[in-house]
Amino acid sequence: MRTPIIAGNWKMNKTIEETKEFIAALKDFSLENVDAVLCVPYTSLGILREQLNNKIKIGSQNIHWEENGAFTGEISPLMLKELGVEYAIIGHSERREMFGETDETVNRRVHAAFKHGITPIVCVGEKLEEREAGKTKDVVKEQTEKAIANLSSEQVKKLVVAYEPIWAIGTGKTSSAEDANEVIGYIRKVIANQYDSQVANEVRIQYGGSVKPENIRSFLSQPEIDGALVGGASLKPESFMALVEGA
Ligand code: PEP
Repeated sequence: MRTPIIAGNWKMNKTIEETKEFIAALKDFSLENVDAVLCVPYTSLGILREQLNNKIKIGSQNIHWEENGAFTGEISPLMLKELGVEYAIIGHSERREMFGETDETVNRRVHAAFKHGITPIVCVGEKLEEREAGKTKDVVKEQTEKAIANLSSEQVKKLVVAYEPIWAIGTGKTSSAEDANEVIGYIRKVIANQYDSQVANEVRIQYGGSVKPENIRSFLSQPEIDGALVGGASLKPESFMALVEGA
């Protein structure tokens, strides 16, 4: 059985003061049979580590493949480990579209994360024009295969993949739960072909794209969907709690 995982992606939101307010407003909610993660700006990692009840895991929004060096603006796995980071979002569509992230750099970051004991949350997903051209499966196949190239089976089993149709991110539009389930089932087949079905059955694959407390159950009731990567609705403590409790 795969444990569902709800990960909040704060993107470039919240100062340290605002992060403190968020933490203070979190109630001691129950976390049974679900993993909860908050992927926050680097500046908020320290305060999360100090003040967050340790039931919620800490995540970053990127990770570099080298441990140090001349990589202005990047973040080292060692620096993240030091701050208690256990998960790293890799290859989010905003990084692919705006900051030149490629399938090759995604793969390097994934290897670095595993090397340092950080679980990658690898994002894949198609643009609207790709969906309309019937290319969704081709796109997610290529992104998935390249992201997980040359990992060991043991590493792949620990992986989290987030299927995020780009046209559904931050737009209020969602994929139907059935469509998301179909694409996620297909991603699992791609992983099974590259490794084997036992490995693929252990990989947790989330849906992401305008998930809210009101619609999370419809996604999580689908057999292939193992949680959600959530942007906007993770910014308010009450809605983050409702997402986790709804899982
Ligand atoms: C995301 O940033 O990964 C995301 C899914 O955002 P939103 O929930 O706001 O659509």
